[in-house]
Amino acid sequence: MRILFLDQSGKPGGAELSLMDLAKPYGDRCLVALFEDGPFRQRLEQAEIPVTCLLDHGMKVSKDSAWWQGLGSSGDLIALLGKCLRLSRDYDVIYANTSKALVVGALTSWLSGKPFVYHLRDILSREHFSQSNLRIAVTLANARACAVIANSKATREAFIQAGGKSERCHVVYNGFDPAQYQAEPGKVEELRRNLSLSPEQFVIGHFSRLSPWKGQHVLIDAITQISSETRSRIVILLVGSALFGEDDYVQQLHSQVNAAGLGDRVQFLGFRSDIPQLMSACNLVVHSSTSPEPFGRVIVEAMFCGTPVVASQAGGAVELIEPEVTGWLSPPEDATALSQLIERLMGQFQQVAQVAEQAEHVSHARFHLGQTRKLIQGILNNCLETEVS
Ligand code: UDP
Repeated sequence: MRILFLDQSGKPGGAELSLMDLAKPYGDRCLVALFEDGPFRQRLEQAEIPVTCLLDHGMKVSKDSAWWQGLGSSGDLIALLGKCLRLSRDYDVIYANTSKALVVGALTSWLSGKPFVYHLRDILSREHFSQSNLRIAVTLANARACAVIANSKATREAFIQAGGKSERCHVVYNGFDPAQYQAEPGKVEELRRNLSLSPEQFVIGHFSRLSPWKGQHVLIDAITQISSETRSRIVILLVGSALFGEDDYVQQLHSQVNAAGLGDRVQFLGFRSDIPQLMSACNLVVHSSTSPEPFGRVIVEAMFCGTPVVASQAGGAVELIEPEVTGWLSPPEDATALSQLIERLMGQFQQVAQVAEQAEHVSHARFHLGQTRKLIQGILNNCLETEVS
């Protein structure tokens, strides 16, 4: 089977990293077509996954922008469609990995007659999308997608609530290669030394692009509410950068950290590619998104690393963690509840270690990449068979 993957972003967000895992086994039988150039293209090339960039200029990719409408008037849509249509001749299936790729993919499928699959990685609700963008997404998916692959029950439910057809929408969780998350203890020690982390310190990692809804400010706020004696042991690693131009938020975070007198306890590490080592160097990973997370790769990655994880109790995160069994959930935007939870966990070394061990075990059973690839291959096979018959 030959697959033409479409993705709007040149930057390696969660959707793009998941796509790499899916595309890898297809080798030359697939092509990843990006709507913009960027570091994601280089990562695909390094992984020897065939890639091409469809537009030579950058695009504004904020979700709620009038991008979909603007696309039509700017001539980008015509250019993208023309290129996709030509490329699609050599492939059996068109696979849209993101919501904006859905527009181009569905129209290309309509013009070419090729089967179309949409990987749904967003919660299609008014919180993130305008009413007209929601309508466009659902109408195109219903009209053209032989299958919609939702990355959580939360994304599937929102899709159906927005008018999406339930019978074509299958939940397949993101998968992870366990071997990638086995960090060598020597490397982890070295990393801790490089970051000047001492064994007495309690290291809390937050792994997300810097963006208001990812809630780094909630974690900082929570730390300021922890008693000063306990707080003096805590170091925070903020791992990630502002991928989509949220520079004001980055400034805001620095000001918040300085105003709280945490300048020597919070390290801004920027975008990193050594996530397993960094997670293994942490005593706790905190996910503090203020809006429902469609899936939350970082939560499962922490589980694979055997690092205890706390996540915001909303969206897909609720499906990933069984509270007190494989991790902990904390109400979104509630810094006080988060501070109390962190303080409690810091005092329960043995129970916390036990939960992290269980989580690692469960993550292998529930989120193994092999299983995810198999389920998606089955869905693609069904699509092709249905189209032929
Ligand atoms: N990530 C990374 N480097 C960073 C920060 C994050 O490689 O500096 C990765 C992280 O390990 C995860 C992905 O980016 O695999 C983020 O995915 P998630 O589903 O958590 O959030 P999204 O970006 O899709 O909103």
